[in-house]
Formats: sequence, C-alpha cells, structure tokens
Amino acid sequence: MAAPPPDIALDLGPEAAADAIAHGRPLLGAGVLACETGAVAAELRRLARNLSETSVEGSPGQRTAARLATEELEIGPLLEHALNGDADAIARAASAGGHDPAAFAQLLELALQPVLWEAAARCAALTDVDRWDRGYCPVCGSWPALAELVGAEKRRVLRCGRCGTWWSWLVLLCPYCGNDDHRSLGTLSAAEARSGDRIDVCERCHGYVKCVATFTSMPTPRLAAEDAATVHFDVGAREAGYTRPGTVDVETAGIPRLVREGRARAGGD
Ligand SMILES: [Zn+2]
Ligand SMILES: [Zn+2]
Repeated sequence: MAAPPPDIALDLGPEAAADAIAHGRPLLGAGVLACETGAVAAELRRLARNLSETSVEGSPGQRTAARLATEELEIGPLLEHALNGDADAIARAASAGGHDPAAFAQLLELALQPVLWEAAARCAALTDVDRWDRGYCPVCGSWPALAELVGAEKRRVLRCGRCGTWWSWLVLLCPYCGNDDHRSLGTLSAAEARSGDRIDVCERCHGYVKCVATFTSMPTPRLAAEDAATVHFDVGAREAGYTRPGTVDVETAGIPRLVREGRARAGGD
C-alpha cells in the first residue's frame, strides 16, 4: 500500500531553478528543502525494525538496526548531511553513536527516500529538468544508477537512484567525465542480458553505465528493484575493469564539450 507523499517544503522559485539548471547546480543545493523530521524518524524506526528482524542475529548491522528501531535519534542534523550527500559526516555520526556505519547510512538513506521522491516531483514541476546538461542528477547531485533506452528509438535517459529524476543523455557521451570521442566509448554485453540491455563504457575514465531497454520510463519506486535485478551487469563491468565513480564533486565532474564550447561562445559564465 502506498503511503501518502511526505510533507515537505522546498524554498526555490522557478527563476532560481532555471538559473541553477543552466549553470550545472543541482536544485536541492540551490534551494532549501525542509521536511517533517518526525515522519522521517518514524520511517527510520519502521525500516530498522524490518532489518533487525530479517538480518543475522548479533551481526553488527542487526545490532544497529535493533537499536535504531527503538532509540530516539536526533535526526535533524543527520537529515541535512544526508540531503547534501555528505557521507563523511554520516560516518562520523555513526561511529559517535557506536553504530555499524554501513547499516546506519543505508537506513538513513532509505528513510529519506520518500522525501527525495517528493522533492524531485516538486523540482520537475518547477522547471524543465530535462534541459540539464551534466552527468550528475539535476535535483540531488548523485551519479545516475542506470540509463533507460526508451522506446523504439532507444533514446538514452539517465535515472537517479536516490530521487528518481530522469534526464535525456546522448549515447556517445560519458556522463562521468564528459568524453564524447566515439573511439574511446564502447559497449559490453553481458551473456545473460535481456535483449536490448547493455553496458556503456568509457575508456577515458573507465566508468560504466547500465542501460536497460524499456518502452516507457519506469516509475521511481521500481528503480531500486531494476538496479538490483541488473546486478550481474555491475559484476561483469567490474570484472572487465570498469567502475562507477563515488561521490560527485561538482567542481571536477566532467563537463560535456558542447556545454564548454557554448559557454566560450557566450563569453564565459
Ligand atoms: Zn537525484
Ligand atoms: Zn568517462
């Protein structure tokens, strides 16, 4: 049963949103997102209870889940870090509380997901996020989890695994480093792939993107399942020497040549 969307407030106007999109700044970084911390804390306790009941008794992750299922956690500052994707700050909070860092970060991220989905829906209503020309998510700033090859024409659309946002992307363009030289962009096909699915790789940064053929873009809540269903792609790509980059650094992330040249013509920023 679908829960009602969480109560959030996004302090960002259409003009500021359009400006952020034009300048490669993720929208949640450009605005201020507020949410009901009580609702997120309740969701965190619910998820922690599930994890605690389904994982190996006494494992570090299970102990953290069991504690988070009952303890009152001061969630406000953590949400700020999680929304900003500040993994170091969350790891510090986990160790300060004596928690297993992996379980702590994962539960926090999952508890925040409905907020991010709702924020992404607001952002999409605010401005045309499909005009975004960077490889990281226009809303939350994460790297895409996968790409969809949509329809008969196989238009490549990147999907963010955190907030579900989609944005169109050229086939011969690496989202991570901005490489658009076809001689150093290629494709791996996994033996057990469904027809039409593939892995796009870049020889410059050794990044890979899982590509899933689909008639229409999949609903956001299905993304995690699709990501998990194609985990053999991740295994195959890593065995072939490719990786997905970690945290996005907006300052150093590759800027596609078309964007760079467009800026030069416009006389800089
Ligand atoms: Zn996102
Ligand atoms: Zn690349």
